[in-house]
Amino acid sequence: MSDVTRLSAAALASALADGDVTSLQATQAHLDRIGAVDGAVHAFLHVDADGALAQASAADERRAAGGELPELLGVPIAVKDIATTKGLPTTAGSRILEGWVPPYDATVVARVRAAGLPILGKTNMDEFAMGSSTEHSAFGPSHNPWDLDRIPGGSGGGSSAAVSAFEAPLAIGTDTGGSIRQPGAVTGTVGVKPTYGGVSRYGLIALASSLDQAGPVTRTVLDAALLHDVIGGHDPLDSTSIDTQWPSMAAAARAGDISRLRIGVVKELGGEGYQTGVRTRFEESVQLLVDAGAEVIEVSCPHFELALATYYLILPSEASSNLAKFDAMRYGRRVAPDGVRDPSAEQVMAASRKAGFGDEVKRRIILGTFALSSGYYDAYYGQAQKVRTLISRDFASAFEQADVLVSPTAPTTAFRIGEKIDDPLAMYLNDIATIPANLAGVPGMSLPSGLADEDGLPTGFQILAPPLEDARLYRVGAALEAMLVDRWGGPLLDQAPRLEVGL
Ligand code: GLN
Repeated sequence: MSDVTRLSAAALASALADGDVTSLQATQAHLDRIGAVDGAVHAFLHVDADGALAQASAADERRAAGGELPELLGVPIAVKDIATTKGLPTTAGSRILEGWVPPYDATVVARVRAAGLPILGKTNMDEFAMGSSTEHSAFGPSHNPWDLDRIPGGSGGGSSAAVSAFEAPLAIGTDTGGSIRQPGAVTGTVGVKPTYGGVSRYGLIALASSLDQAGPVTRTVLDAALLHDVIGGHDPLDSTSIDTQWPSMAAAARAGDISRLRIGVVKELGGEGYQTGVRTRFEESVQLLVDAGAEVIEVSCPHFELALATYYLILPSEASSNLAKFDAMRYGRRVAPDGVRDPSAEQVMAASRKAGFGDEVKRRIILGTFALSSGYYDAYYGQAQKVRTLISRDFASAFEQADVLVSPTAPTTAFRIGEKIDDPLAMYLNDIATIPANLAGVPGMSLPSGLADEDGLPTGFQILAPPLEDARLYRVGAALEAMLVDRWGGPLLDQAPRLEVGL
């Protein structure tokens, strides 16, 4: 068997089913790839070689025993370090959780284990998922495999870098304002944020509870669908989990159909501020859909212009409340205040938070605490919630005219490490096109739309569907992906003259 790390998850699953390769071999091959390139990419915060190989052996035994088997049995996966993993360190990219080993699995992790996917390790991320570049990780940034001097997106840049560098065929990410889709766009990979409530949040370290969603990070639309089917579905442990019978996402991806589709190009998500090459590739993809028989209309969502401001009131408010539990009393890192004999609990908390939280986290805690303080609550948080409703209404009326909405995923290709780190607003602007979906809870996908002419770097195409219509994303995404791959003469990541790592 040639290099198994180059296979899609679906292709690897078939090779496993056909007996062309064992899970132990495939998992070892990915661990070797990690060993060879992760010094340069830094996608992983923790690699669990022993655990992954043990799970791979168990998967091989389960296959040998026969019976009905999960489709992805034996296909290895990487998990963003925001999901708790029993017995494996979980930091959320923060020093305040350094050394913490959770006593339980997040539901997404438990489901991945139950389906027999060996967990290679935990991927790097911006601290508590705050950022668009992984530069806010307390453990140093990840690097974009297309150009190691550039960011792989964030906050889940570790997951997208691991998948684009062929260190893992699959990864789990979380998306609060774009952290699955924007990293997908800038690394030439696929990322899906499911409908809010579609995938359990139990055991995910919360950033903003009303916005957070876990989802797949992959190299193909079908792979994302297969993983979505594993991790999605009702979970009684998450009170916001939707109790419904979801259709098979993989079946939708395999059907891949856009006939009679009405596509709404969102006027407010494009134009000024979007890089020329990003726009060109976007317009070409839209044209492909038109040529294939879709109807394209322009839709206007006027309140999307307020989305960023709304998000940066709601997110810090929820984050400041969620992060209050990191008090160094029960778990995580505890720091004794300098020169204080018999410090009080408050003094220990203050010293621990000072040492344990990075600047961006402190910035958002302060912002959120302010926005929630009495006297300001109505003016800021309350007002933001009202605008959030207007954004949901914009979506509702746009979806009366169109079956899916589309836009570029991110306004630019990957920027250089260090370029925006001192300018929070410039960093926040990366999510201008992804944030509305989180505010309204609608599902969204980013898939690669090609390379920008001016810098040869990947660009992303975003598809949004009404709540609960995640399967539509896969049906449309798979059809567009097939046309694009045809045009490129193969998958984008195989057409990557600039992919620096190991080619
Ligand atoms: N970049 C956005 C932020 O900093 C989104 C983060 C996310 O989706 N986790 O909040």
